[in-house]
Amino acid sequence: MGSMIQSQCKCGYESDELYVGGGMMDMGDKCELPFYCDDCEIVISRNILNEKGIKKSNRCPKCRKTIKYYGQIVSEETEYQENFTFDWGIGLEKRYYLKEELHHCPKCKKDKLMFYSSGCWD
Ligand SMILES: [Zn+2]
Ligand SMILES: [Zn+2]
Repeated sequence: MGSMIQSQCKCGYESDELYVGGGMMDMGDKCELPFYCDDCEIVISRNILNEKGIKKSNRCPKCRKTIKYYGQIVSEETEYQENFTFDWGIGLEKRYYLKEELHHCPKCKKDKLMFYSSGCWD
């Protein structure tokens, strides 16, 4: 099961609903995270895993440029005390965190984008 999140910026930009995390059927080999592409001005979700583990880089489905994800991937032992919009275990050793704070907006290029959770999926 994963989560549905959406992003919204003060400039008016709003992403589609993003499916993040992994599904029940393919747990372990699928983990969708939110990414942004500054060139296409979009927030999207991409699967960061392949057969070998976490991919070194991910590409924008539109312009094929390397894109960055929001949040951090840390080791499972890391203790976090802050608030999160979303967190997800990746395999046994890693964990993904998306902090509840303002993020980079691919449209206005300012840190004014907010993620909020809009439901669950499985
Ligand atoms: Zn792009
Ligand atoms: Zn913006």
